[in-house]
Amino acid sequence: MGGTGLDNLSPCILAAEMIKRMARISVVHDETDIPRGILRRAYVDINGVSPSKGAIKHSSKGVCEGTRVLKKECAAFSVIYGMSRKVPGDGNHARLLMAAYDMFKSLRKNSILDFTGAWVIARDLDGGDAFVGSCPHCSCAVLKWPGDMTNCLICRAEIAG
Ligand SMILES: [Zn+2]
Repeated sequence: MGGTGLDNLSPCILAAEMIKRMARISVVHDETDIPRGILRRAYVDINGVSPSKGAIKHSSKGVCEGTRVLKKECAAFSVIYGMSRKVPGDGNHARLLMAAYDMFKSLRKNSILDFTGAWVIARDLDGGDAFVGSCPHCSCAVLKWPGDMTNCLICRAEIAG
């Protein structure tokens, strides 16, 4: 048994691991197909609080709306997730996502970006609705959206999506 439990692919274990990371119920349901009622009870048992009921941001662009610190965190997670996707694995999406998120959290312990926000970003990267590019001026990594202008978070240059 590994320390994180991520070696086990059982949907229940994966659900518990995502719940430990405070994932929204709809995210856990989407990844595991476990009924929401069961997940809600598990959430209370594991975290000792009720799961959050607010709407999930519908796009990675929405997740990034906020402070510069949040934007930088979103870009950092995108880079880590993008690299993780290229490493051959077992193809389990929840496990890949948690490994990338854990790596991100190890670098930014007090991050604002939560697991659910990371899930939305990963979904957009997977679907081609967002992608990681580099700034043509300072070559730092930038999270971009096709057809949209964005600003480099380091040198503030305008970059086309
Ligand atoms: Zn730049």
